[in-house]
Amino acid sequence: MVRRQPAKRAPLDVERRARVHARRLSLLALVVAGVWLPLTVAAAPPEPEADPARSSDEPSDAKPTWIKHRIIPGERVIEIAARYHVSADSLIRWNKLDPKNPQIFAGRTLRVLTNFAPPPQKKIEYVVKSGDTWNKIAKAHRVDADTLRLRWNPKVPRAFKAGQTLVIWVEPVVKQAKPGAAAGGDASSVAALPPLPLVAIRSGSISVGTPSNGKIVNALQLPENNQLYTLRRPDEAFGSSHTLEHLQLAIARWRRDSGFTGALKIGAISKQGGGKLKPHSSHRSGRDVDIRLPVINNGSAEQVSDVDWDALWGLVMALVDTGEVKTIYLTTDRQKHLLAAAKRAGADQATIERVLQYPEKSGHNNGIVRNQSGHTAHIHVRFNCASNETRCEDN
Ligand SMILES: [Zn+2]
Repeated sequence: MVRRQPAKRAPLDVERRARVHARRLSLLALVVAGVWLPLTVAAAPPEPEADPARSSDEPSDAKPTWIKHRIIPGERVIEIAARYHVSADSLIRWNKLDPKNPQIFAGRTLRVLTNFAPPPQKKIEYVVKSGDTWNKIAKAHRVDADTLRLRWNPKVPRAFKAGQTLVIWVEPVVKQAKPGAAAGGDASSVAALPPLPLVAIRSGSISVGTPSNGKIVNALQLPENNQLYTLRRPDEAFGSSHTLEHLQLAIARWRRDSGFTGALKIGAISKQGGGKLKPHSSHRSGRDVDIRLPVINNGSAEQVSDVDWDALWGLVMALVDTGEVKTIYLTTDRQKHLLAAAKRAGADQATIERVLQYPEKSGHNNGIVRNQSGHTAHIHVRFNCASNETRCEDN
């Protein structure tokens, strides 16, 4: 029945609904919007064939659909057009902008007919650390330094101080994107995925026995990788190759996908060669890793209100998604906050039950994340034995 409405009314209605929608914009919402928008705007279809830019250089055979782009501060028509592989002329026409002076405003949305729809830019707040420069911060977030300063933070003094909060619009990265996808195309399209900042982990460090009564043969130390984590005690950062490899990979994916830029501190793993590591009862066979909970604004991991629970949920899932994590210890009262974050992230019930013990009581070991006293400011991650570790055992 939408189709029978007068053509004039449809765009207004769509605009209003899309604005409400845009507040909750996520990749999922974008996909959903792509599904329902074609129905609601069908009353006034512009001519898709009048867009040579997209049809000529877009190899995808997916059908173009209507999506909404939320304009970010300082963004220009030509940039938005490039983002979706459409022409600026089409964008102006679809949104009834003045071709001579196409003014657009941050926070409003534009309609785009495209089959190339990267997820929306994500706004993050970054707190300046001592030693930071505009260039350094821009580089770390893969954004343009002038854009960062002049468009997103025009009121921040050029010579800023530590503690200053900056707004940064980061480009979320789609996991399935092919690394070479944009390599041969135009420079204005969405950047090709940079490789993960991984340091090579040699094989041959082997876990033997159980976490509470074992050792490591040919022990390897977790290499420094300041883009991903810091080592609180390098002399206690020895682990099996299998553990270190999956630990690094999970953190790298989590950084990329969450945009979390704060510190991540790795505590005890094992000592060189494994064996007893005071004051721990486990941490002996190179498969246990303590990770300090990620915090907001350099707060304390002991303080529930300082912990970035959303970031922690992302980290837990990145670890679980390696398929090589056996158990993660965290007290039940802290898991409560993790559950709330899981729900905010849209995790389905099956995932929540598979991953979290809470709201079951301690002792109902039906989740990967389980209660163990003392684990309030850090998670203790236990990795699996590798298939080639024939003498590796569980307790
Ligand atoms: Zn531990």
